[in-house]
Amino acid sequence: MSQTILIVEDEARLAEILEEYLKREGFKTERAKDGKRALELWRSAQPDLILLDLMLPILDGFEVARHIRAESSVPIIMLTARDDEVDKLLGLGLGADDYVVKPYSPREVIARMKAVLRRSTGLLSQVDSYTVGNIDIDLGQYVARCNGKEIPLTASELRLLAALAKTPGVVRNRLELLAAAGDSDTFTDERSIDAHVKNIRKKLGDCAEQLETVRGVGYKLRAIS
Ligand code: CA
Repeated sequence: MSQTILIVEDEARLAEILEEYLKREGFKTERAKDGKRALELWRSAQPDLILLDLMLPILDGFEVARHIRAESSVPIIMLTARDDEVDKLLGLGLGADDYVVKPYSPREVIARMKAVLRRSTGLLSQVDSYTVGNIDIDLGQYVARCNGKEIPLTASELRLLAALAKTPGVVRNRLELLAAAGDSDTFTDERSIDAHVKNIRKKLGDCAEQLETVRGVGYKLRAIS
């Protein structure tokens, strides 16, 4: 079954070019030219991945990502016009799985997309699940739960949490976690891991205390909070 990609882009020509390339690669596509329509299509078409422009009419890409991330960990690749938007993007911790800076080549976008899709579906073959205290992680379904309630993590965040869950109570340093997040394009240094852990902790809610900082070393996931 072919995967559906939601293209959110207000510049018609750019959207058309992307759509053309994606169709040639065997993807199904949906197109939205503003943020409101993007949210409608996200709900109705249930895309496998979203290409999301940042500067959009009605609701911008930041708002769209915030809405989606509150409920879903569908892969999102941000299309940004400027490097300073990337800083804002990372600073806000909206949980984009990757980003591409304009002007981009459609070929580059598709390469990034395939990498993200591989990462989010590639683990299906090696079904693993971990339970640490009140946190359950199911890598088969790519979902994490706190007291049975789904935690809206991005794919990278889930991998990072899973890396900690594999060795409960053991301190993992930032470099190990960087490797586990498996996303050298988005998370290029150790500081990005700190930002990441901060986001995960926020999303963990009642289970946040289980994720412990070990000063000067790294992080660990404890069974009992
Ligand atoms: Ca735009």
